[in-house]
Amino acid sequence: MLGQMMQQPLLVSSLLVHAERHHGEREIVSRRVEGDLHRTTYRELAARSRRLANALTKLGVQRSERVATLAWNGYRHMELYFAVSGMGAVLHTLNPRLHPEQLLYIAEHAEDQALFFDLTFLPLVAAVAGRLQKVRHWVALCARAHLPADAAKIPGLLCYEDLIDAHHDRFDWPEFDENSASSLCYTSGTTGNPKGVLYSHRSTLLHTYAAALPDALNCSATDSILPVVPMFHVNAWGLPYVGCMTGAKLVFPGPALDGKSLYELFESEQVTLSAGVPTVWQGLLAYVQGNGLKFSSMRRTVIGGSACPPAMLRAFGEGLGVHVLHAWGMTETSPLGTTCAFKAAHAGLDKDGRYALMAKQGRAIFGVDMKVVDDAGQELPFGSEQQGELLVRGPWVIESYFKDVGGSPLRSDAAGRGWFPTGDVATIDADGYMHITDRSKDVIKSGGEWIGSIDLENIAMAHPAVAMAACIGVPHPKWDERPLLVVVKKPGAEVTRDELLASFGGKIAKWWLPDDVVFVDAIPLGATGKMQKNKLREQFRDYQLPSA
Ligand code: ADP
Repeated sequence: MLGQMMQQPLLVSSLLVHAERHHGEREIVSRRVEGDLHRTTYRELAARSRRLANALTKLGVQRSERVATLAWNGYRHMELYFAVSGMGAVLHTLNPRLHPEQLLYIAEHAEDQALFFDLTFLPLVAAVAGRLQKVRHWVALCARAHLPADAAKIPGLLCYEDLIDAHHDRFDWPEFDENSASSLCYTSGTTGNPKGVLYSHRSTLLHTYAAALPDALNCSATDSILPVVPMFHVNAWGLPYVGCMTGAKLVFPGPALDGKSLYELFESEQVTLSAGVPTVWQGLLAYVQGNGLKFSSMRRTVIGGSACPPAMLRAFGEGLGVHVLHAWGMTETSPLGTTCAFKAAHAGLDKDGRYALMAKQGRAIFGVDMKVVDDAGQELPFGSEQQGELLVRGPWVIESYFKDVGGSPLRSDAAGRGWFPTGDVATIDADGYMHITDRSKDVIKSGGEWIGSIDLENIAMAHPAVAMAACIGVPHPKWDERPLLVVVKKPGAEVTRDELLASFGGKIAKWWLPDDVVFVDAIPLGATGKMQKNKLREQFRDYQLPSA
């Protein structure tokens, strides 16, 4: 028997319609490439998105065609989110930090038909424009008055505000199958070519409901949310959609991601919640601590994308009264998979116990199921101390990559259900809290046993003189691989190899102790702010360990 409820497809446009109708006055504040602070509302956002949808229609953009962006977090980028997906085309957010050759590959593979870009990226666009034959329209995200003279290098360049001005704000968002594609994001492809992850309207809406839940990002109409995580990185973890769903104020930092600029924006816009990868918080923490500042409104921040070092959890929690919610996800999982929110049973934990738990990646949010399997593919029960590969499934987890690149990534279980292998190595405790020890490609294998590089990095990061630490496996004649710790010191701070190694005392099994420490000026970061350990491994491939 069928249920007898309305058949209303879950569409991205419905979020915008809701926000306009029920939270029309709520503000969206953006620091712009033009240098100023721009203020608008959800009502205005909705009207301009409809103008943009008319403009895109006039430009000939068809259903399912890809419209690309090279843009910071800001209101214009948000308009593109809703106009492009809302009219049934596919928003393709390009990561401007990628190498131009990779960008070319991705834009060509996606067959982008139009490309909208912030002026910051004009040189990048000028460098690739001649080689992207499929792109029919190049649009600079600014008013004509701000267009620099050398913009003329891009033939037929359009100006975003001209497009908006030239079209009226009446547009009926079409209804279509909720399984239609809404947006596209490529994985950074640390190995091999990047692969496209094509989200649907349905997956996006379901993810948005889940993301807003109290034990997930916990967003409400009273929040002021500043996504530091870029809108080109897995849809800023869904926060633009969550903003519309909840009516939270949104504060966009634009290109100004340094500690001082962020802190000023947190304060002036009374931000209550933020989100980003650990590396961006380092700059903010250094600025806030260095100047003896406090946050007057910020209460929570979500940290994920790579493991949040326990020292950072405490710096926020004890030093600044900001609760960190550690979260795990991937481009392939939209991205939210787990969040480390407490359960009632944790009320009695002492402070150290709470921080130890918070360092885990957390428990599955409803909609995502997860399990850890051994080398033979057998599930390891919750609470077993064994680590294995993490597999996930759910309605916002990928089934296949765009254009089926690489074939099906899924693995079937005995019941024939498909699971997505994450490439992460993890344990799950008796309460269902997942803890990542490594990415499978970063695992250090010494004498046939795994050494968890993340644990070692976390201990190093707890040393007051350490700004950043990466632990990699270096070839060893007897043990195959041994850990080498690569460290960036904080400016002006001093620590020796032996002092640093002494700080590991009693915290790990003796054979986990790194064989050596090298101090470097910088650790290479990828396009999403993660340490590129593959580059470090390359750099230190011939490193002579003292024990070798
Ligand atoms: P890429 O790093 O390839 O660009 P993603 O941004 O999708 O791709 O990254 C997903 C990966 O990031 C996960 O598989 C995991 O290895 C890592 N990751 C994400 N969140 C966390 C976290 N909280 N702790 C540890 N690793 C994390």
